[in-house]
Amino acid sequence: METIPEVHLNTASGIKAMPLIGMGTAVYPFGSSETILQEAILSAIKVGYRHFDTAAIYQSERPLGEAIDKAISMGFVRSRGELFITSKLWCGDAHPDRVIGALQTTLRNLQMEYVDLYLIHWPVSIKPGRELPFSKDEIMEFNMRSVWEAMEECYRLGLAKSIGVSNFSCKKLEFLLSFAKIPPAVNQVEVNPLWQQKKLREFCKDKGIQVCAYSPLGAKGTVWGTDQVMANKVLQEIAQAKGKSLAQICLRWVFEQGDCVLVKSFNEERMKQNLDILNWELTADERNKIGQISQCKGSPAEVFVSCNGPYKTLDELWDGEI
Ligand code: NAP
Repeated sequence: METIPEVHLNTASGIKAMPLIGMGTAVYPFGSSETILQEAILSAIKVGYRHFDTAAIYQSERPLGEAIDKAISMGFVRSRGELFITSKLWCGDAHPDRVIGALQTTLRNLQMEYVDLYLIHWPVSIKPGRELPFSKDEIMEFNMRSVWEAMEECYRLGLAKSIGVSNFSCKKLEFLLSFAKIPPAVNQVEVNPLWQQKKLREFCKDKGIQVCAYSPLGAKGTVWGTDQVMANKVLQEIAQAKGKSLAQICLRWVFEQGDCVLVKSFNEERMKQNLDILNWELTADERNKIGQISQCKGSPAEVFVSCNGPYKTLDELWDGEI
């Protein structure tokens, strides 16, 4: 198997680099399939994945930790140190006095001393302790400055080897950079051929923030995703002519732009297929065709919009980047 290329993150002080292909672990309804998750993660480690994306809200931290334990005892990896683990702060904990405690809970679930990367999941706070579902009147003002200061403390304490954000627009990143003592290493956002995020990706590149692309296949079949990516005619034609799957075309396209690809499959054959994107490339003509696909965000996250909350419209949530 090809070695998965890695990238050094901007906060990295001696930490290991991040593999540019990672396995997603979000399965809805969250928490409904712990055994399936554990087995899938074990298979993923066996076939070569070394980067795993979890989040407190996915309830996949515990099965991930257990799968890693098993993988070590079965000899698939020698130690936890060979893996790159990302987790995320949920909105109900996006309050300055709850951040460190939330990460400590995450670490207990994972049975780990540290995460490699800890992200603010959304630029949103909801009532302390609330999970899903929550009501619109539980959405609160998000105090980015004080939440980020607590994230920086997580880094200083060594609980997170690097810190970053998710679902942040250019405007929110610009504000964050205006006061951050430790700049965000990563912005994890939706990126696929139908939601290419050119402006945001250029902004991040300019500021040294690594983009991690979630839902690179459009998250077909999930409550937050869209079938439109996997049904796209341009992508179908390219895949057929090239003798690759449509999924591989999407993943290769994301990878070629330097983004980290986070893809979820719990099927071992598709896991292998999704790693098999390293020893071939798209032609300029194929890239050009993909560049012209009309754009449509698969996951606008209306759940965070409320007439009494800080984001009254989707435009406000995404600062016009929608
Ligand atoms: P995704 O990876 O784009 O799509 C997952 C879906 O595609 C699953 O139904 C999977 O089914 C299927 N699939 C995977 N490989 C395939 C292939 N080669 N051919 C055909 N179908 C394939 O969507 P995602 O799960 O939303 O995104 C990946 C990860 O990003 C998540 O799991 C999560 O960790 C993270 N994420 C983060 C956020 C955030 O707000 N930060 C939001 C969404 C997702 P099978 O399992 O049956 O193969």
